[in-house]
Amino acid sequence: MKKRNTVLLLGIASIVILISVQVIIVKGVWQQKDEMFNLRYRLYSQDALSSMSGRMTTDGFDTVRSMINWYSASVIKDLAAIKDDSLLALKKVEIFTYVSKVLTKEQDLSEYLSRYFERRGVDKNFNFKIVINRFELIDNEKWIPIYVSEEFSNRRPPQAGRPPQPGRPPQPGSQPPDFNRRSSNEILVKGDRSETNTYRLDFDCFIDFSDKQKIILKETGTSLGLSAFSIIFVLIIFMTTYRNLMEEKRLSNLKTDFINNMTHELKTPLSTITVAGKTLEMVQIRTNEAKILETAKLIGKQSVHLNQLINMILEISMWERTQFQLDKKTVEIEEFMNDVVSCFKSGGGNNATITQKYNFNDTKIDLDVVYFTTLMNNLLANAVKYSDKVPVIDIEGFTTENNVCIRVEDNGIGISKIDQKHIFDKFYRASTGNIHKFKGLGLGLYYVKKIAEAHGGDVTVSSKPGKGSIFTVTIPLNL
Ligand code: ADP
Repeated sequence: MKKRNTVLLLGIASIVILISVQVIIVKGVWQQKDEMFNLRYRLYSQDALSSMSGRMTTDGFDTVRSMINWYSASVIKDLAAIKDDSLLALKKVEIFTYVSKVLTKEQDLSEYLSRYFERRGVDKNFNFKIVINRFELIDNEKWIPIYVSEEFSNRRPPQAGRPPQPGRPPQPGSQPPDFNRRSSNEILVKGDRSETNTYRLDFDCFIDFSDKQKIILKETGTSLGLSAFSIIFVLIIFMTTYRNLMEEKRLSNLKTDFINNMTHELKTPLSTITVAGKTLEMVQIRTNEAKILETAKLIGKQSVHLNQLINMILEISMWERTQFQLDKKTVEIEEFMNDVVSCFKSGGGNNATITQKYNFNDTKIDLDVVYFTTLMNNLLANAVKYSDKVPVIDIEGFTTENNVCIRVEDNGIGISKIDQKHIFDKFYRASTGNIHKFKGLGLGLYYVKKIAEAHGGDVTVSSKPGKGSIFTVTIPLNL
C-alpha cells in the first residue's frame, strides 16, 4: 500500500518536472526565435531603406517632405501672430496633428518596403509606422519647437552652444496623439531626420508584423509538436498505469472480502452439521427417534446449502473458461413466474408481502428454466435480505414489441449511485453489504447478469438509498 502510494507520488512528481522543463525549453526557443525574427527583419528593412536612398537619390520621403514644407511655410506667420500662451499651445497641437497625419497617410516608405520584402520572398504583411520624436519649424534660422517627445529630450542632451529653447519640454495639452505612440511588438528599423529650410523633423520608423506569431509558430512547430506529444504520451502512460494500479487494488480488496465472506458462509452450515453430529452421539438422543429424524433433516438441509454454495462457486469459475450452456424450453412466462413466486413464498420469502401484476398476454418464451429460476430467486432473495423493515416486493411483468420485461421492486435499504455501477461485478458487495449483517458472497447479481446475458437480454437497476430498488430484467422474444 505504502509502496503503491510512493510510486504514485513519484509518477506525479516526474510528470510535473517534465512539464515544467518542457515549458521552460519551449519558452526559451520562442524567445530566441522572436529575437532572431526581429533582427532579421530589422536588417532587411534597413537594407531596403538604404538601398532606396542610394539608388534613387531620394529618401522615399518626397511627397511628405513637400507637403510638410509647404504647410510649415504657411503656419510660421500664423504662429508668430499669436501672443496668448494657451492659444499658442493649441496651435502647436494642431500643427503636430497635421504633420502626424501626413506621415501616416503618405506611405511611400511602406510601399517600397513591401515591394522589397516581396522580392526577397519574405513576409510582407506588416504595419509601417513613423513615430515623431521632434518637430520644429525654422523661421530665419530660429527654431520654433512644436513637439519634443520626453524620450527624445532625455536621449539627446541640449547641444553645446545652443540656447535652450523656450517651450522645449512637452507642454500641457500637447501630448502626442495615439498614433504617435508605439507598442512593444514593433521593431525599430531606423531613426532618421528630414530637414528643409522651413522645418526639422526627427522620427523613428517601426514595423510591426501582424503574422509574426504565426511565422514563429511555423518555425518552432516541430519542436512544439514534439514537446506536446511527449507530454501527452507520458500523461497517457501515467493514467493507464494509475488505472491499472487502482483496478489491481480493487480486485485485491474484492478477493480479500470474498475470502472473508466465503469463510463465513461455509462456516455456518459446517458448524451446524458438527453440532448436529455431536448431538447424534448423545445416548439420550439415540433413543428418541423423533429427535434423530429432526437432526438428520437439519444435517441434510445444511449439506444441501453447503453443496449449493460450492456448486455456485464452481459454476462461476467454469463460466470463465467455457461458454454458458443453456437448456432452453418454451414456457408461458406468466405461468412460469407464478410458479417461481409461489415456490419462493413457501421457501425463504414467507415473511415478505409479494404482489404480482402481469400483462404478458399469454406470451411464450424460450428459457433455461433452472437458470432463470435461479435468476428470479436471487433477485427476490436480495429484496428480502437487503431490507430493514417488513419486505414489500412488487413484481410487474409485461411484453413490449420485442421483449419480455420483469420488474422487481422492493422497499429495502436501496443502493447508492456509486455501488449501482458495480453490483453486477463478480464478488462485489456494497459497502454496507460487506459487514456480516447481510450475509453473501457478492455473486448473486453477477449470476443474474450472466444468465440474463446468456438469454440475449440484460438486467438494470435503479435505486434510491433508504427508499428501495427496482431491478428490471429484459429478455428478447425472438430468440
Ligand atoms: P450478495 O448479496 O451475496 O452480497 P449480490 O451480488 O446478490 O451479492 O449483491 C451485490 C450487492 O448488491 C450486495 O452486497 C448488496 O449491497 C447490493 N444489493 C443487491 N440487491 C439489493 C437490493 N435488493 N437492495 C439493496 N441492495 C442490494
